[in-house]
Amino acid sequence: MSTTYPRPRGTYDILPEDSHRWRHLEDVFLDVCARFGFRRIITPIFESADLFERSVGDTSDIVEKEMYVFSDRKGRRFALRPEGTAPVVRAYVENDMHMQGGAARLCYMGPMFRYDRPQKGRYRQFYQYGLEVIGSNSPAIDAEVIGVAGLLLCTLGLVGWKLEINALGAPTTGDAFERALVEYFTPHRDELCEDCRTRLEKNPRRLLDCKIPGCRAVAKDAPVGLDYLSPEDREHFDIVCGHLTRMDIPFVVNPRIVRGLDYYTGTAFEIVDDRLGAQSTLIGGGRYNGLVGQVGGKDQPGIGWAGGFERLLLALDEEHIAAGEPLRPVVTVVALGLQAAAAAPALAQRLRLAGLAVEYDPDKTSMKAQMKAADKSGARYALILGDDELAKGVVALRNLTDGAQQELAEMQAIALLLENK
Ligand code: AMP
Repeated sequence: MSTTYPRPRGTYDILPEDSHRWRHLEDVFLDVCARFGFRRIITPIFESADLFERSVGDTSDIVEKEMYVFSDRKGRRFALRPEGTAPVVRAYVENDMHMQGGAARLCYMGPMFRYDRPQKGRYRQFYQYGLEVIGSNSPAIDAEVIGVAGLLLCTLGLVGWKLEINALGAPTTGDAFERALVEYFTPHRDELCEDCRTRLEKNPRRLLDCKIPGCRAVAKDAPVGLDYLSPEDREHFDIVCGHLTRMDIPFVVNPRIVRGLDYYTGTAFEIVDDRLGAQSTLIGGGRYNGLVGQVGGKDQPGIGWAGGFERLLLALDEEHIAAGEPLRPVVTVVALGLQAAAAAPALAQRLRLAGLAVEYDPDKTSMKAQMKAADKSGARYALILGDDELAKGVVALRNLTDGAQQELAEMQAIALLLENK
């Protein structure tokens, strides 16, 4: 039915019949993270707009075109967070987390916001999960971080994905790379879109990331970062690849991977599922060794990745994986007659106090209607309370799977239900 106030374009409602799938993803994600020693961090949904402009980059699509920016009543500029890394790094710096010793392993999940054209797998409000390791530049950490992503997908039962990795090179080596880009793109200046002409001057790397077909055609033969790595960066990358091979995580090197955010400096990777159509990247991430300093902290290397639950669910659908089970009550209370109806809410409360999930619907009075509701809810038992039972001080417990029914004292019924919940 249409409403006067429909939800904003690019957003969606997660209905009760689906919400258990989201819960399942949250549970599996946190469980896999915990196996690697990641602890959850929860940051605000809005941050100062500057944070993203400086870190994600003011010539990136996200900042240039997709950010929800607003001013509060005192005229301060904020943005609904378009991504999770800059806020986590901001929190790391602001809370002096470098003092805790060792690299910080942080994971997060929650809604992110980008104003983009909505399509399958792309929304204006989407639910991202991700993680960061801040304070280590070890290639073993790169491999481990990628290993979390691989293990997450495997734990969910997904097999139809592909890991692609690349190395972008630290900013010092980026200079040579950027010069090569400028040299390559300048003769094609007229074929580029207006944004890319600006990028040619301000941020040549972004030229590789334009989605406009004309620019893509030019970028196809552009120099690749892998050819411009310093010997140290090359060694780092080779060690990461060696670890991945020994960890039995299949991957391909794709020198065309560039990430859409400015802060990436080293290993970059994407996990793609080609069956998802245009929005096929399940997870994307990489190393950002300059970001902590940029956000105002003491220079610290970092690496992380993020993915969206929406695309994960699409991938699960592709592989016909149910992802969790809907919640169902253990028992439905069926009250027959006025006296039983008067006693039923207190009975239901006692059962819940004991730890059982109980359903009781006072709007249904006939045996038939109540039994039908029990069936529909998926309850395994019906606890029937009629005048007879009330008079005797017992309850009738019916097993809805095999139809067997027995008269029990309330305490016995609770014990049996707890045993079979
Ligand atoms: P990014 O922060 O752009 O590197 O994106 C990381 C991951 O977040 C992507 O691979 C997607 O799984 C997810 N994602 C990013 N943008 C959206 C969006 N607009 N809608 C749904 N998922 C998204």
